[in-house]
Amino acid sequence: MIFRIFEKKELKNLFEILAAHNKVVGPVEIGKDKQCNPIYAFTEVSDFNSIKLDYTTTKLPAKRYFLPFHEDLSTFRIKDNNWQKTIDYNADRPLIFFGLHPCDINALNKLDKVLLHSVFPMPYYVAKRKNMFIIGIDCVPQPFCFCRSMGSDTALHGFDMFITNLGTRYFVEILTDTAYNFLKNIKTEEPKEKDHILYMKSAAERNKKFTAKVDTTDLAKILDMEFQSDVWKQWGDKCLACGTCANVCPTCYCYGVEETVDINLKSARKTKMLHSCNLIDFAEVAGGHNFRPERHSRLKYRYYHKHRGFVEAFEESLCVGCGRCGESCLAGIKVPEVIASVRGGKKR
Ligand code: SF4
Ligand code: SF4
Repeated sequence: MIFRIFEKKELKNLFEILAAHNKVVGPVEIGKDKQCNPIYAFTEVSDFNSIKLDYTTTKLPAKRYFLPFHEDLSTFRIKDNNWQKTIDYNADRPLIFFGLHPCDINALNKLDKVLLHSVFPMPYYVAKRKNMFIIGIDCVPQPFCFCRSMGSDTALHGFDMFITNLGTRYFVEILTDTAYNFLKNIKTEEPKEKDHILYMKSAAERNKKFTAKVDTTDLAKILDMEFQSDVWKQWGDKCLACGTCANVCPTCYCYGVEETVDINLKSARKTKMLHSCNLIDFAEVAGGHNFRPERHSRLKYRYYHKHRGFVEAFEESLCVGCGRCGESCLAGIKVPEVIASVRGGKKR
């Protein structure tokens, strides 16, 4: 890890160098909610001034850029009485993420464990992931963020460079050669001891703002013991089975594959679509049998995948504590409350 520091105005120069030949995605304001708070989204940007680096959590995560909701895996066409198969990984241009928060970087790191580093990597994800450059940025904690409980409030890897706002300057942590070489194009300097102290103070100030918490002590074991608990039925009765929680989750990756043949029988496509384990047909198999027909069994499955199965496989939870699912759930189902009720604490 190499550390540098640079004046804020230099970031615009860096953006212009990066945007000259690459697709850049950053957080922008797309409107206001009913309380007049800004709503942010990740979108392609060409103007540095449209990026809001002091943004709060976006409604949707950045995953649509590397794990799209719909993606054609292959297309088929009849030509000269032969089938032609085409595969497009949709990763022809490098993608620069300009300002990802630690929780979203950690979400990518978790997805990598399944889709990049597993025995069967997903080539569509791998192609996009390897063509990415990530600039992380420190976040503005919100009342619903419990990332600190999940160990996702700081990112140790999964980025090329990470900038922290120190007032008039940015402190930058550099992890890759690519970032180091890009930074040669702007004016940076070696941080002094006082800059390191300022960095630590800024982290301490930020940490004070995390208020939501989840007690993860022995959680996987507790889930084993509470598998038959009535609390799952109580939460399941509230759940609308809408699937929104998975759509907004930066770490949900389950998908289904659909094959469609055009009406002229001359072309066809195989499409991957992200699924949600809370939807009624998630565990339905050929012949019509549904392994989880009740809402509570599907909601429970989601929690056991995140906080039990993934922990057994990878020694960590599949939840980064971004709080997006709870903020988007029309039934008001929030991870900290569900976990507290399972632990025998606050009942709903
Ligand atoms: S968003 Fe809420 S209501 Fe919808 S499926 Fe998820 S938990 Fe159920
Ligand atoms: S389960 Fe909810 S809080 Fe956890 S990563 Fe997904 S959206 Fe964020």
